[in-house]
Amino acid sequence: MEYLLKNGYVVDPVNKIDCERMDIAVKDGKIVESVDESKAKVIDVKNMLVMPGGVDLHSHIAGSKVNVGRLFRPEDHYKDYEVKSGVRRSGVGHSVPSVFTTGYRYAILGYTTVFEPATPPLKTLHTHDELNDIPIIDKACFPLFGNNWFVMESIRDDKLEECAAYVAWLMRTIKGYAIKVVDPGGVEAWKWGITSQDFDQEIPRFGITPRELVRGLVKVNKMLGLPHPVHLHCNQLGIPGNYKTTLKTMDAVKDLAAGDRPILHITHVQFNAYGGVDYLSLSSHADDIADYVNKNPHVTIDIGQVIFGDTTTMTADGPFEYKLFNLLRGKWANSDVEVETGAGVVPITYSRSNYVHAVMWCIGLELALLIKDPWRVFITTDHPNGGPFTEYPRVFSWLMSKKARERVLKRIPRLARVRTNLKDIDREYTFYELAISTRAATAKILGLNNKGHLGVGADADIAVYNINPKEVNPSTDYKLVRQAFSRAYLTMKDGEIIVKDGEIVAAPVGRTYWVNTRAPKDVEDVVIPEVKKRFKEYYTVEFENYCVPESYLAWSAPIQPLEPSGE
Ligand SMILES: [Zn+2]
Repeated sequence: MEYLLKNGYVVDPVNKIDCERMDIAVKDGKIVESVDESKAKVIDVKNMLVMPGGVDLHSHIAGSKVNVGRLFRPEDHYKDYEVKSGVRRSGVGHSVPSVFTTGYRYAILGYTTVFEPATPPLKTLHTHDELNDIPIIDKACFPLFGNNWFVMESIRDDKLEECAAYVAWLMRTIKGYAIKVVDPGGVEAWKWGITSQDFDQEIPRFGITPRELVRGLVKVNKMLGLPHPVHLHCNQLGIPGNYKTTLKTMDAVKDLAAGDRPILHITHVQFNAYGGVDYLSLSSHADDIADYVNKNPHVTIDIGQVIFGDTTTMTADGPFEYKLFNLLRGKWANSDVEVETGAGVVPITYSRSNYVHAVMWCIGLELALLIKDPWRVFITTDHPNGGPFTEYPRVFSWLMSKKARERVLKRIPRLARVRTNLKDIDREYTFYELAISTRAATAKILGLNNKGHLGVGADADIAVYNINPKEVNPSTDYKLVRQAFSRAYLTMKDGEIIVKDGEIVAAPVGRTYWVNTRAPKDVEDVVIPEVKKRFKEYYTVEFENYCVPESYLAWSAPIQPLEPSGE
């Protein structure tokens, strides 16, 4: 099928196109130079905004903790359900939508690629079950390595090559994409009674510190040439004063960087940019974090913006969820994943009149606005931790309009305004910067060369929004921005029309990316039998039942590692 999208205003930062009136030609699922107008289906998108499909690098959409969230939050579903219509299946969910609904809602926002950022290796078969069922979008999952016994032991024993061989084996065996680290060592330490693991404190029984662990995994990532940097959720998430730990963590790997290629992605930094000594004195240190990121190209971040309203927090950071449960005294679910990791789930309602929540709201936006380079700061809500992804258009309007921010600022506690910097920030994102932060840069940092742009040869993943970027001034017309981004006029995925006028018209299967990586054979030959032995000793499943065969994936999309950049 051939298409010609005519007369839209195209924003495509990779190709340095900023609101130019252009036609986009599509053939066989790819962007092409031109098509024969007499044969192609011509779609008039005159005066509309045309962007590459959105790429989200951090959204909890599949896996065991997400499913726990679905199961124990019926109140999340009963007000927000969808009946079957046309190609759409029925579904439920506000903060933890069912799988099909997740795919539809992302497509309606114009997003076409979404990565699940935390899968316990042992439970990744389940994660793939759910990823298989999420229609339309391309996806992948990041296995958790930050509390894994084999990883901690091999780094302690200075056996980095063995560690790399284990990571390589695991990545291809369970079809993972990137190294995820959550509260390095802290989930394991909690099992020994330590509720808050410091970055330079020894992890009980393992004789290494989180600093050594993170450095080891960054080296392993480089040895294997994985396409995405180590994706890190810092120690002491959610704790007042934690901005110091975040700065220390970023700085701990600085000497390992070579060139301008980022080697560490710090995720949902809003939760890790706090000053103060307790929640009463909580303050923003987003400016210090932004200052560090501005000066150091080896790190990227995403913001983890908070949205006022009801949501469900879920993270492998089990000890943090336990602390949150003690503050809120509502529901709490916890899980220990054998020798690998853990997880917790706690519902929360962020309230505008709550001092702590208001400070959190300010910090997320401060990070996005104070970090100068949109290629290194990405817009997320850490769905559903800060709020559901369906609220992204609201975040866009805050970033594009000081007036929109001021409307909220007026209604939060005075002290929260005083102890944050947001009120003093004038910057407003342009459509171009928004396109960088939500698609071009995220595709780049994930190593997806065919995504995030509209150049010839790219996957024809395209979002068209019914807003004229030449006429609308987002600074004052922020409500129009929110409306337009809430319901794409057209979403195309691999050259197929998925959304027309905000409605789902097709729901094809999306790809699952994974990295087909290998360590040198002689090292793997030593490591794999050792791993097998561990399965006999420690695991409740057999080695043979752990793997996820390629045939299990609805649409397997293996990608090759990059050229390793050495240790
Ligand atoms: Zn997360």
